[in-house]
Amino acid sequence: MGLRAESAEPGEERVTTADTFREVYGTGPEGVWAAPGRVNLIGEHTDYNDGFVMPFALPHTTVAAVSRRTDGRLRLHSANVDGGTVELFLDELSADDPAEGWAAYPAGVLWVLREAGHVITGADIHFESTVPTGAGLSSSAALEVVTALAMNDLYGLGLEPWRLARLCQRAENVYVGAPTGIMDQTASACCTAGHALHLDTRDLSQRQIPFDLAAQGLRLLVVDTRVKHSHSEGEYGKRRAGCEAAAAALEVDALRDVPYEGLDTTLERLDDEELVRLARHVVTEDHRVEQVVRLAEDGDFRAIGPVLTAGHASLRDDFRVSCPELDLVVSAANDSGALGSRMTGGGFGGSAIVLVEDAAADKVTDAVIAAFATAGFVPPRVFSAVPSEGARRLA
Ligand code: ADP
Ligand code: MG
Repeated sequence: MGLRAESAEPGEERVTTADTFREVYGTGPEGVWAAPGRVNLIGEHTDYNDGFVMPFALPHTTVAAVSRRTDGRLRLHSANVDGGTVELFLDELSADDPAEGWAAYPAGVLWVLREAGHVITGADIHFESTVPTGAGLSSSAALEVVTALAMNDLYGLGLEPWRLARLCQRAENVYVGAPTGIMDQTASACCTAGHALHLDTRDLSQRQIPFDLAAQGLRLLVVDTRVKHSHSEGEYGKRRAGCEAAAAALEVDALRDVPYEGLDTTLERLDDEELVRLARHVVTEDHRVEQVVRLAEDGDFRAIGPVLTAGHASLRDDFRVSCPELDLVVSAANDSGALGSRMTGGGFGGSAIVLVEDAAADKVTDAVIAAFATAGFVPPRVFSAVPSEGARRLA
């Protein structure tokens, strides 16, 4: 399956989505919706520990042109995939036998909505996306959330954005079979322009934190390393299990309940060095989220840089989910004048973020690209990310 996401620029896809729907299905769509990818500023591997995260929505979106059907069929087409239209029957959707390939994500959303008792009688959908896939920027969540929002509007389901996110997470966990926390879908569904979303993944309470970097003369670069190391999924499962074991050994519901104060003393109760490292990352990372929230609220944006870099060191040394490409982004960026940087997303490839002064952005970008060339790595893709709007109806 060939996946393309890099051709169009954010915004361009909207112009063509409805037209392509007409070409694929013969008539125009009833509506057009968009849901963004996200970048996580801070709070990595905390969302399955009941902890805190702080993502913001990218300008890159997955757009869906959609019409209802009454015959129980679901037809799916994506401009980013070679291979034509996938046709499924809603009554036959089953988590025991999920649709193959990319269609599992939107099919999983229809499955989960119907499982929750909502009446949906079919749909034709055409997708078009500028969210890089497999880059740790949550193209999967964008695909799910745009599908869920379109169904919510067309079938009048009346579900709030956070509830759609929950259902999409269940679709990805149970139907697609990918263990993910609640951050990605919530970010895509609930973020607002100009803000980062402070999310408590235990009770799902949210705060929109003003995060207008441009007004501060700052920029956040996203560096997509274009690598995804194949062992990432197994390693994710191991980290999750290790975190649960550490919580059990410390007799708390989740690592989120371990206080930051006195952490070293608390960790002496663990006799397994691996569990000590995992727990130390999660507890210090939750603390870093709180630090970043406070700095953003105080308008002290430059001081966020070192917190990002400390987060990277923790992911690299304690949680051990980094890789040579991500470490190279961080060292090359910081050595060439960035305020701070870190890997973002699950790790083992994907993307890193770099906080820079506007004036230094080109120099830092060039330094990262040169360092990759010297190391013989695939050239990275670098773009700047402005906190953008969450999922919405376009037409
Ligand atoms: P990420 O969410 O970090 O981009 P994932 O592996 O979770 O990475 O999800 C990527 C997968 O989602 C792709 O391999 C593909 O199956 C599916 N996908 C995402 N966007 C699209 C799209 N626009 N069209 C078709 N499939 C897509
Ligand atoms: Mg994903």
